Amino acid sequence: MLRHVGVPPVANFYDVELIWKSGQTGKARAVGNNAAWLCSCGEVLLGPTRYPVAPCPKCGKHFEVVPKGHPGSYVDHVREL
Ligand SMILES: [Zn+2]
Repeated sequence: MLRHVGVPPVANFYDVELIWKSGQTGKARAVGNNAAWLCSCGEVLLGPTRYPVAPCPKCGKHFEVVPKGHPGSYVDHVREL
């Protein structure tokens, strides 16, 4: 395992695809095992790959933050359910 001696680790941002139910795609931003994205209603949403994400508090759309492997791993993409 990589050890950071004297330098705090940095959680880097990375971009992932946001896939709408319509098939259209957009952009989401991930850091670690979480992603954030802009709902079509304008709300900023975010969620982890470890747990299901509550529906958008404004419009009720459902999303899933899909992990690359097992739940809790890095984000592969975000999709509207
Ligand atoms: Zn919404």
